[in-house]
Amino acid sequence: MKLRFVWNCDVLIDLHSHLEGRVRPDTAAELAAGLGVPAPDGGWERAIQLDGPADLTVYLAKVAVTYPLFRSLEAARRIAREAVEDASTAGLDYLELRLGPATHASDESGIDAVIAAIAEGMREASAATGMPSGAVVAALRHHDVETNLAVARAAARFAGEGVVGFDLAGDELLYPELEPHRGAFAIARAAGLGITCHAAEAAPGPAAREAAEILGATRIGHGAHIVDDPETLRWAADSGIVVEICPTSNWYTGAIPSIAQHPAPRFRDAGVRLVLGDDNPLQTGSGMREERETLVSTLGFGPDDLAALDRASVDAAFLEPSTRRALAARLP
Ligand SMILES: [Zn+2]
Repeated sequence: MKLRFVWNCDVLIDLHSHLEGRVRPDTAAELAAGLGVPAPDGGWERAIQLDGPADLTVYLAKVAVTYPLFRSLEAARRIAREAVEDASTAGLDYLELRLGPATHASDESGIDAVIAAIAEGMREASAATGMPSGAVVAALRHHDVETNLAVARAAARFAGEGVVGFDLAGDELLYPELEPHRGAFAIARAAGLGITCHAAEAAPGPAAREAAEILGATRIGHGAHIVDDPETLRWAADSGIVVEICPTSNWYTGAIPSIAQHPAPRFRDAGVRLVLGDDNPLQTGSGMREERETLVSTLGFGPDDLAALDRASVDAAFLEPSTRRALAARLP
């Protein structure tokens, strides 16, 4: 019975997943050889995959090991294409894929070229598989204001051309200030992009509310610490903000001490709208089906809770109207 409602879901929508967390180890090895990037000790699979729960530093190092592979635009395009293909093979119905283009831009390939290559790879795979996908361009907390403004302007140029959203990612403890990024997010909003923000993942709960008020976020990435602050939790429920939960990722980064202590049930009980993501599935070894199963087997989600999550996912996805209607029509 449990398996029936986990696996026979009406829609499987991933709203928080990073491109750098979807690089196939075999592809990494092949690209590295072509690009002259030295093979990491122990090989690419070991370099990318975590053995188990760790801390944010170790987790981010496993993500960052893929960065040199994006130096070539053709490599970036291939990685994006394969990420969407893999999501379709895993049974997903829609994937939003995040990427920080400024990290991958170089003197030869600027921010626009990086976004164009990744959007093209995603478009190719969506056309081939029939699974829609959209890119969410991320500004990074540790980048300067000018860089993030340039990223926002580039994302805006690709609005409707593969880019659907704008995000802020990076180390929230070292760089908690949101005010410097107000301008970049204004540009993204003016272009019609959906707005999300990694917030209250490492910082205290009120950071989520600041992301909504300063940046205009309608979705919050992780938001694990919202539940620690009763006032912010009430605000989250009342405002209708959507929290993108990624349980295994939070455990592996050390944001929560065990998977059983993930705040998903407390969000649900407070009436906060939830959607699901797998964050960096090749680093954690846990994709969307595993995350959904965790909600049921470890966090006590029942069929009604999953139905609410599916509804919120269709509503909150940065989708164009016809795709949203098609997915909504599949909901019970
Ligand atoms: Zn993330």
